[in-house]
Amino acid sequence: MLQSFNFSLKKLSCTSYRFAHHGCKVLVVGGGTGGCAVAAKLSKILGKDEVLILDPSERHYYQPLFTLVGAGVYTLNDSFKLQKNVLPDNAKWIKDSAAEFHPKSNQVITTMGHKINYDFMLLALGLETNYDKIPGLLEGLKNWSGVCSNYSDKYVEKTFQVLKNFESGNAIFTYPNTPVKCPGAPQKICYLVDDYLRKNGKRQKSKIIYNTSLPVIFGVKKYADALWNVVNSRDIEVNLRMNLVEVRSDKKEAVFENLDKPGEKQVMEYSMLHVTPPMSTPYALRTNKELSNPAGFADVDPESLRHITFPNVFAIGDCSSSPNSKTAAAAAAQSAVVFHNLKAVMDGKDVHKVYDGYASCPLVTGYNKCILAEFNYKLEPLETFPISQDKEMTSMYLMKKYLMPPLYWNLMLCGYWNGPATMRKLLHLYMK
Ligand SMILES: Cc1cc2nc3c(=O)[nH]c(=O)nc-3n(C[C@H](O)[C@H](O)[C@H](O)COP(=O)(O)OP(=O)(O)OC[C@H]3O[C@@H](n4cnc5c(N)ncnc54)[C@H](O)[C@@H]3O)c2cc1C
Repeated sequence: MLQSFNFSLKKLSCTSYRFAHHGCKVLVVGGGTGGCAVAAKLSKILGKDEVLILDPSERHYYQPLFTLVGAGVYTLNDSFKLQKNVLPDNAKWIKDSAAEFHPKSNQVITTMGHKINYDFMLLALGLETNYDKIPGLLEGLKNWSGVCSNYSDKYVEKTFQVLKNFESGNAIFTYPNTPVKCPGAPQKICYLVDDYLRKNGKRQKSKIIYNTSLPVIFGVKKYADALWNVVNSRDIEVNLRMNLVEVRSDKKEAVFENLDKPGEKQVMEYSMLHVTPPMSTPYALRTNKELSNPAGFADVDPESLRHITFPNVFAIGDCSSSPNSKTAAAAAAQSAVVFHNLKAVMDGKDVHKVYDGYASCPLVTGYNKCILAEFNYKLEPLETFPISQDKEMTSMYLMKKYLMPPLYWNLMLCGYWNGPATMRKLLHLYMK
């Protein structure tokens, strides 16, 4: 059925933006980390213009660098390249957003009104940040009030400005009551701030507080134990199940609710407030009940990453319902699975590649220290190096700072990096 549909689509296919109808073999919605990596792989085998990428962004950010931008190690300019220079040459880019999905008729309608028909679709829309969901937060971010956030290109540089101007008082870090991308990032900046204040002789005059909505400091016990040692040894106060609900930037007050005691609120004064905002999948996806689950994520099989209802649809990265930690590292591991399974479906075969839930999180704990957490769906450690990775190590920090960015731009986005699984097998074999 797909084959005959494919034939009719080819006849309809147009290559110019002037026309309102586009057709393609594979439509990739979202050309960020996951979308770009898979588009690169697919366009190599499918040839020119068979892969169409729909994405409105002019810039492609390497978001994992935002932690180090917020800490003043890199600048925002170091963290992005122009989308046109990153997307694969063989693919066609439409600079527009998906506004409506019609998966029964294999069609997407864009914000500008274009209609795109596809044979196969990859959902790669990521997560959006909802700063407006917390009263007073946007105001605080926009004015000079000590409120900052590494989670947006608009505000990430403000973090280091706030840090440099910090003299004394509370530095508060938050984690929202929603799924987030890189669940380690809300606390990485907390450790960097601690380190910065110590180096600059201001730590004695400050109190560092990490307020998280979660019931744990980290989801994987091995690394959670290591992080408790870090916070205890550095005198960082951790409050679990505390959710930011309001920012009163005129008074420099943050209001938190205790999620275990509904209605109980606590007002905390701050000199610095680093906010990780609530997040959700983009509107067009989360409101489409055919494609998304009740939480708004693309409803896929967690092993094959193929859509539960629509066999010609796959999802990758942060917008997928697969219950892994949402990281670029996870998207790298997923990219090989999606590519092989999508290709199998195109060839009329069964899907056979399985994603094990691999994710990694370089938990930066200072300006030269990092705990490299790696784990699977079962929250079991899945470590690349044949050493126990629950230690703070300079080598892991140097890897995050110097090795990961070029690996991302030159290998992953070109379709050549599927995560460290092969390296892990080799290293562990060698050590045996
Ligand atoms: C502060 C911070 C620190 C992080 N640290 C790490 C780390 O150390 N290690 C790590 O592995 N990961 C880290 N991450 C997470 C990582 O960046 C994400 O998990 C990864 O980028 C997800 O890839 P994605 O393709 O799902 O989404 P994205 O890369 O976010 O791409 C989504 C794309 O979809 C597009 N889009 C959105 N809506 C639409 C629409 N309606 N139509 C069309 N296109 C649309 C967007 O423009 C975007 O280009 C961090 C993230 C942040 C913010």
